[in-house]
Amino acid sequence: MRLLMPYSGIVKGVLGMLARHELSANQRKPHIRQLIYVALPCALLLALANYLQSGYPLPGMIVAVTALLMLGTAFFLSSQEKLLAMAESLLLLFALLASVTLGLLGGIAGSGILWIYAFPFLALWLKGQRQGAQWSLVWLLAMAFSMLAGSSIFPFAYAYDEKFLLQASVALLFYTGIALAYNFSRSQLEEKLYVSEQGIQAKTRDYMAKLEQAAYQDGVTGLPNRLRLLDILGREISAAQERGHTLLVAHIRLKKMFETANIIGTDASDKLIRNIAATMTATVGSRGIFARIRRDEFVCIYRKHSEDISATEIIKDVLAFRLEYKINDYAIHIDHTIGVASFPSHAVDAETLLRKAAQAMLQAQFANQGLAFYDERLDQQFSRQQLLFAQLHEALQKGGLSLHYQGLIDLQSGAVIGAEALARWIDPVSGPIAPSEFIPIAEKSGLIKPFTLWVMREAFAQLARWRAEGLDLFVSINLSSRSILDNQLVDDLRDLLKEFNLPAEYVVLELTEASFADSPETALQTILSLHKLGFRQSIDDFGTGYSSLSYLKNLKIDELKIDQSFMRSMATDASSRAIVQSTIQLAHNLNLKVVAEGIENAKTEQQLKEMGCDLAQGYYYCKPMPADVFNQWARSWQINRRAVLSA
Ligand code: C2E
Ligand code: CA
Ligand code: CA
Repeated sequence: MRLLMPYSGIVKGVLGMLARHELSANQRKPHIRQLIYVALPCALLLALANYLQSGYPLPGMIVAVTALLMLGTAFFLSSQEKLLAMAESLLLLFALLASVTLGLLGGIAGSGILWIYAFPFLALWLKGQRQGAQWSLVWLLAMAFSMLAGSSIFPFAYAYDEKFLLQASVALLFYTGIALAYNFSRSQLEEKLYVSEQGIQAKTRDYMAKLEQAAYQDGVTGLPNRLRLLDILGREISAAQERGHTLLVAHIRLKKMFETANIIGTDASDKLIRNIAATMTATVGSRGIFARIRRDEFVCIYRKHSEDISATEIIKDVLAFRLEYKINDYAIHIDHTIGVASFPSHAVDAETLLRKAAQAMLQAQFANQGLAFYDERLDQQFSRQQLLFAQLHEALQKGGLSLHYQGLIDLQSGAVIGAEALARWIDPVSGPIAPSEFIPIAEKSGLIKPFTLWVMREAFAQLARWRAEGLDLFVSINLSSRSILDNQLVDDLRDLLKEFNLPAEYVVLELTEASFADSPETALQTILSLHKLGFRQSIDDFGTGYSSLSYLKNLKIDELKIDQSFMRSMATDASSRAIVQSTIQLAHNLNLKVVAEGIENAKTEQQLKEMGCDLAQGYYYCKPMPADVFNQWARSWQINRRAVLSA
């Protein structure tokens, strides 16, 4: 048996048992029809020849009748796909019957059976390799029987002479052999085709899998990407729902990744990102799933079980990554901001959960915290900010903003000598919006630059008008800490001086201590440049920041504006008075003028006068007002003052 094993492939091949491709009924249908078109006239012609030529016309008649009946039926059956196999069998059965009839009855004088050698090919063509081979073998046996044994059993059978029998048998075997050899080589060819097709299919599958991976996976870390994250989170939500778990979704933004990447290069920054991903994944362990959704942003889905420590503790313990790395000998520390939303308390669908986690991250970022939980109220604030941002943008373009002016009084002479420009915005939908609300929005959104430029231009224009009208005033302009870092500010101010033909000393620029917090070097440079241009500069809200007084010495600053909170507490609080007093003294020692703002009553004014304060501003004198109202107020103030003086 074992010896035969190597040959079993050949045997199977010969018998067509290895055939891979079977034609479908639809593909075979035209074959059988074509065959019947050829076979029917051929069979009838042959029958006619037999009928006319042989000594006895029986075989011809049998062939003709069976041909008409069987081939006709086969043709009829072949019109339906379901009956096609039956039609094929009928056709072969006819061929077999005709072969046996002619074999038994001897065809045209015994030699009219040559055509039947086509049978094996016909069978293979019609029935395919496997069944075709079976039909051929049946046919071979039937032919051998009818020709060899027929005459000894049936009296009417044709008696072949021995020489003819030998020739016919050899021919039979020869044709059958060729058909089987054809079957064998075809099997082999099919096998080869099959193998290469399998290879192509495997390669295609591989390629498709890679494509799919690229669509759903981050190329650098191999983590799921944003697209895939939605899917994963959706599934995690369903699982958590079933098991009654909580999910914490943490949106993690790495700080200054862009700058870091610029310094260390793309390869190193990819390595860094991979390290960060590995650290985070390892820290969180099997309860967390990570995705990388942008260059510097990751999302972690954490499965919190009910018996776990509190969510806050998890976030603090588990997600408090220490992201410190050594890349190509650089020691790099990466800070991050995390926003967390949880399922089911904040949202029950993946998209909202992700949005709220991102929102929480932004909330943390704005509050300058490392971590924040999603907060509904902050979210509403956010929506309002978004709305205001859009409205402010429009107001800037369509001239929806205005400036009000509040007088600055010289405490010694009592004269109004300047005015602070304060922005006002009345939105047609939202109504009046306080600068304390819209200026931070402008600062965060990048609108601060066009806004500041607008304020400066407007204030310069007003200053030019006052001077043209003979009002000898200076104007104070507030500069946000962001504006100080804008390297175009100095050029803009220089251009405005030229455009309005104004001397710079009539403009006071009010800065806050926050201006020096982020980038003190840049701020110092700008202040120096502005000083050189001749602008006066003032530190607004003085006393509220953390900076020491000593740095003032090195700043090219002209004045301090003591914060209004001190004015409010001065009346009752001795320490406030002491602070104001010593600030005034120190400022004078440093050759700086002092402005007190937020003066609301005569008593405070009196105290400040006694302390030697230079300038005063507050509701006690006037509220901020539109330019034309301010003009009237300023003129009547000067007239009244003159009257008081001359009285
Ligand atoms: P600030 O520069 O400290 O301006 C003084 C604020 O105190 C003004 O509020 C003014 O109306 C108010 N004020 C003046 N006197 C009194 C008083 O006697 N009592 C009380 N309770 N308040 C008084 P406003 O106009 O709402 O401005 C708030 C802040 O918004 C300003 O504080 C300033 O930081 C900012 N701001 C206003 N306009 C501009 C601007 O054009 N550019 C920039 N960057 N910031 C501006
Ligand atoms: Ca101010
Ligand atoms: Ca102030």
